[in-house]
Amino acid sequence: MIDVERIRKAVREIIEAIGEDPERDGLRDTPQRVAEMYLELFQGLGKDPREELRVGFELGHQEMVVLKDIPFYSLCEHHLLPFYGVAHVGYIPSRDGRIVGISKLARVVETIARRPQVQERMTTEIADAVFSALNARAAGVVIQAEHMCMIMRGIKKPGANVITSALRGTFHTNPASRAEFFSLIHGK
Ligand code: ZN
Repeated sequence: MIDVERIRKAVREIIEAIGEDPERDGLRDTPQRVAEMYLELFQGLGKDPREELRVGFELGHQEMVVLKDIPFYSLCEHHLLPFYGVAHVGYIPSRDGRIVGISKLARVVETIARRPQVQERMTTEIADAVFSALNARAAGVVIQAEHMCMIMRGIKKPGANVITSALRGTFHTNPASRAEFFSLIHGK
């Protein structure tokens, strides 16, 4: 449970600590605004992303399903600065062909993005959630993202894209299956 009042106090403390006046016009409501923003940006905390995949249907679909270019926004847990980009998520249904509504894959990404994250763990968590909740034969996730902590500070490399992937099941063990997944997300 997110403690809005505590965030409000902490933000006011930061404003004072940098030598600013928390009572001046532009800053007076900032602690409240930041607290409400964190409520939204961290709304994935404490949620099990697999819940999003609970309602599925049996279509007997045996082939790969891929959702490309799912936009996401997260906050890196090292600096609490945004990193954002796109996630590509795919899976091969279980033998009984149980699938979920395609938008549910985007909901899984959203739930996992809206908490303090590192891109590598986010990638792994999405793959594990899809693989286990759907009892899938394969699951794969590729994330491309830009990190504000690399752009605004430190090495200052705007445009640098970090790419991570996680592969489960036959995407991991079968080169042909993996190649098909990557060709679909590259749009060839
Ligand atoms: Zn960072």
